[in-house]
Amino acid sequence: MAWFCSANTNHGLVNNLKKAGIFQSERVEKAMEAIDRGKYVKYDPYRDSPQQIGYGATISAPHMHAHALENLAPFLLPGMKVLDVGCGSGYLTACLAEMVGSEGKVVGVDHIPQLVKLATDNVKNDRPELLESQRVVFILGDGRKGYPEEAPYDCIHVGAAAEKMPQDLIDQLKSPGRIFIPVGSNSQYIYQIDKDSDGNVTKKSLMGVMYVPLTDAQKQLRGE
Ligand code: SAH
Repeated sequence: MAWFCSANTNHGLVNNLKKAGIFQSERVEKAMEAIDRGKYVKYDPYRDSPQQIGYGATISAPHMHAHALENLAPFLLPGMKVLDVGCGSGYLTACLAEMVGSEGKVVGVDHIPQLVKLATDNVKNDRPELLESQRVVFILGDGRKGYPEEAPYDCIHVGAAAEKMPQDLIDQLKSPGRIFIPVGSNSQYIYQIDKDSDGNVTKKSLMGVMYVPLTDAQKQLRGE
């Protein structure tokens, strides 16, 4: 059903995702209405499918972004701190920033310099104040290691599929905190990893998916 959420406008797309039950939270709706996907994707931005953004990367389908925001919503309250691993186009990073508000912060990490530039240019064009105020910062680096300099995070979104559960990311999570991450190589599942207020970690599989791999920069550029 999620794949039938395509529309001709950002508002139409968000409305279709809502009608399909992909999200219920009004805060998710507001964020997705505020950040126009058309400013982050060149062709067919309101189609509910992943799209190539170059350098072996894709912007995830709108319904996956909506699932991620809905799942992480309790950890995207005003003032919270977020890590977005594999920030690609910068679209979701901007939505996350919208949800945590002016007191919050989102760190977007990508390992391809051209994609860090793409994300920066897209946000500069759409919402320059997010960069000026450092509510959003983009970092070049290997996201499998997280970004310890800004840790701990209330939540971590991972936009590419990890082969196994990344301990470094779990270590950089607050108690309580949550990670939304695709895991697996041949068959992939989204996992919700929760750390409770005592530091206990639980993992729950949510749905089968197909994401590009969380990998080495050279392998990605060679298309392996
Ligand atoms: N969330 C983004 C991009 C998803 S594509 C969006 O929706 O636009 C996955 C992204 O993960 C790509 O940009 C890719 O370059 C990045 N990536 C893959 N492996 C990575 C790694 N080891 N470290 C950081 N980023 C990585």
